[in-house]
Amino acid sequence: MGDGGAADLARRLKAQAFGLGFDLVGITALGEPATRAAFDAWLEAGYQGGMAYLDGEGAELRRDTRRPHVGATHAIVLATQYGGREPSGPVARYARGDDYHELLRERTRGLHRWLEAELGRPVDARPYVDSGPILERDLAQRAGLGWFGKNTMLINPKAGSFFFLSSLFVALGNNDVLDVDDPFAADRCGSCTRCLDACPTQAFTGPRVLDATLCISYLTIELRGAIPEPLREKIGGLLYGCDICQEVCPWNVSFTTELREEAFASREELLDAGSGDGTRALAREILMMDAADYAAAFKGSAMKRAKLWMLKRNACVVLGNIGTNADLAVLDAMLAHEHDVVREHAAWAIDRLTGHGQQ
Ligand code: SF4
Ligand code: SF4
Repeated sequence: MGDGGAADLARRLKAQAFGLGFDLVGITALGEPATRAAFDAWLEAGYQGGMAYLDGEGAELRRDTRRPHVGATHAIVLATQYGGREPSGPVARYARGDDYHELLRERTRGLHRWLEAELGRPVDARPYVDSGPILERDLAQRAGLGWFGKNTMLINPKAGSFFFLSSLFVALGNNDVLDVDDPFAADRCGSCTRCLDACPTQAFTGPRVLDATLCISYLTIELRGAIPEPLREKIGGLLYGCDICQEVCPWNVSFTTELREEAFASREELLDAGSGDGTRALAREILMMDAADYAAAFKGSAMKRAKLWMLKRNACVVLGNIGTNADLAVLDAMLAHEHDVVREHAAWAIDRLTGHGQQ
């Protein structure tokens, strides 16, 4: 296929991706990430905390995008918006609806099937949805989708940063087959520092450097242990994840749009959770759940990444911060929970609500 054919295939492939429901698409050749040195320095500093999948082999694979799927030459990088116009709440926007992994994987596979039909031959390919050992934001920048904001998110000038990234790795040979996009070269953060200033835990050690061990998203979703006590108060009413450094970003404020993807819309039980009373009610509900309630309430939900005991731990922190005496009974019941972390967080919350924990 000549140059014209490669450009034409890229154009038609993008049209197909938009038709499948993706909001942004870019194409890049695989290779060493531009942010590899920054990634190594970040690991060296220990900012990944307990996320062991980022160490050792996981790190090695992330140092070159040709490694995860041997033979792959290109990535088609896809973004799907999830932000919507709902107000802030105790659950991060990405986790309010259905789990996005399977939906986006199937959609990405649809693009693979289309590509094979177009080329009239099998194409070795692999879809990744937030699951592969890939520095996805680096890949997306390389494919022209946006720049790295000072909040470490990838920001697109027309769509902001509330989107899922997925990609289809394909083995296609050289660029004669498929035209690649230019990397997104500009940095449009300028002198803005809103995200750095707004972070409740001061988790940014500098622009584009996040100490994940201080980040509320890590503390409430990834951390499998006790939340360090000095950080608990700063979590406020956040039960699962944190959107603050994205919500303050002018690029999200300007480009907030209605949610197009119904599957990502808030589950009914989260709709009223945005108010203080709604957040407390949700926290109490979580504390009262048993395994069967949890399985039923969060079936197919993106919140399933956290185990029930972790959600209960988070709920104790939230009630310790914004609860009232009316929440003491359910916290008392947690003093007998089988998990010691839940018991300890419940005791902390009770101390806060009764004034015993104050200096
Ligand atoms: S997600 Fe929240 S806690 Fe984490 S860096 Fe952003 S503002 Fe800070
Ligand atoms: S808030 Fe400002 S500095 Fe932070 S990512 Fe957005 S534009 Fe960049």
